[in-house]
Amino acid sequence: MIARFTFSRLLSWGTAAALVLGALVAWGPSHQAPSANDGQRLGPMGMADYTGQGEHGWLGRFIVDSRRPTWPASTVTWFYNPEGQPDALGTQAIVALIENAGRKWSGVCNVRFVFGGFTNRRPDINSSFGTIDRVNVIGWDLLTGNRSRFSGFANYWYAGNNAMQDSDVVFNTARIDGELDNAFNLAALATHEIGHMLGIAHSDVQQSVMFADPYNTYAFQSTLRGDDAAACVTLYGAPASATADRLLNWAEQSTGGALLPLGTASQRDPASGLVWRHYTQSNLFVGVLGDDILVLPVGSTAVQRVGQLGAVLPVVFGAGF
Ligand SMILES: [Zn+2]
Repeated sequence: MIARFTFSRLLSWGTAAALVLGALVAWGPSHQAPSANDGQRLGPMGMADYTGQGEHGWLGRFIVDSRRPTWPASTVTWFYNPEGQPDALGTQAIVALIENAGRKWSGVCNVRFVFGGFTNRRPDINSSFGTIDRVNVIGWDLLTGNRSRFSGFANYWYAGNNAMQDSDVVFNTARIDGELDNAFNLAALATHEIGHMLGIAHSDVQQSVMFADPYNTYAFQSTLRGDDAAACVTLYGAPASATADRLLNWAEQSTGGALLPLGTASQRDPASGLVWRHYTQSNLFVGVLGDDILVLPVGSTAVQRVGQLGAVLPVVFGAGF
């Protein structure tokens, strides 16, 4: 319903002066401002801008398992076990934020992340291949030993034909108070852990959700970067809407707070190919239809065409999205 409603609103546009996204498009390459949110945990090289150089000075790029295991039919069906979850967050809210995190990945690569329902099974990250239950469980547990420093932990198992068989994710119950009892933080953590479920390891590119040396902030990890997209595309291929989605990723991390909440996943109208997001805190709609970048300003019923996707993509990619 929301999609149809919004799409009809978008179809009602006229063209006029641009607002938020138009201002961004006008920045051009000389204003490749890094996210306002990613400055807290810069690595030793001190670079805020994406340069293609990894943390260790290597050619920066994503890392996937050497065997490149992938999910059959590019589909991960996952189940949620609410046992041990934060009281402050309801079950439905947690499922919704995990689904949203999955949609972020689906925006940049051809993978589907499907909620299969609830389960009593524990997420088991310690299984051997012989003991996996082949139920992909996301849930809560106390991470102990050398894993106690992690807020979440993912593991996966794949068969000799490189077909994924099982993947579980544990959110650390010791990190609930003041950290994972916050929906925004948990959503960002889920985005990172889902990357592992898909078969992506940690990246050497600091400007990526999958970077871990050190980890980026939750605000940073709310939005996928170009390196994350490239990793996933390597495994699952790219949807036609990937470039539009990457532009929207760039926009939401570059607006200085105009597009909130961060981490909003794209929706796509299959009939028209319109890719769009609705930012509920600011009530802004932004989208891409063909080569047109569109904004529905707050308080307006007229969609504004504010730029051309092709013209802005060099800025988007150059900024690490
Ligand atoms: Zn990780």
